[in-house]
Amino acid sequence: MLSDIDLTDDSHRPSLSQSYDTWTSPEKCPALVLNADYQPLSYFPLSVWSWQSALKAVFLERVQVVSEYDRVIRSPSCELRLPSVIALKEYVTPKLFPTFTRFNLFLRDRFSCQYCGQQTRLVRDLTFDHVIPRRAGGKTTWENVTTSCSPCNLRKGGRTPKEAVMPLLSKPEQPTIHQLQKNGRAFPPNYLHESWRDYLYWDAELEP
Ligand SMILES: [Zn+2]
Repeated sequence: MLSDIDLTDDSHRPSLSQSYDTWTSPEKCPALVLNADYQPLSYFPLSVWSWQSALKAVFLERVQVVSEYDRVIRSPSCELRLPSVIALKEYVTPKLFPTFTRFNLFLRDRFSCQYCGQQTRLVRDLTFDHVIPRRAGGKTTWENVTTSCSPCNLRKGGRTPKEAVMPLLSKPEQPTIHQLQKNGRAFPPNYLHESWRDYLYWDAELEP
């Protein structure tokens, strides 16, 4: 009887020849999404879909499977490997200009304060600063809003950079999607499956 139990247990354990992702939870197997030209749809945040969305797109024949995990999903009628990289069959033309959001503003400024230059990946440490203060008629536009750390924002108060003697490190401008993509390459996410690396080019050095 004891040997039966041991056998059962062994059948659930990965053998040495099987890679780790054969056994990992499907929730930990997102698919990297590429455009039809094999460029990622977005670098930051990186375009990834859950395994469910990826499989749905495969069944609807909207995407091509470029690479797969070893992880297999079984149903009574079929067995298939989860896609790790998928590419859209129809090319999606990227917008020329990004939407004006806090995240995109911080990405334009590479998550660094444009007064003191301090960089942080913690969005909560950054603030939205009106270069020409609102009370002086300053608008909430790409050209009048910049990224500032809280201490600099507090120090500047309701003054212009000139009044506060706090010159800006860069002139705020409307970025293009291309510029944001370029900036996003400096921020690789923590999770990167090895099959993704052929399709991503990071400016920052990656951990081996
Ligand atoms: Zn600062």
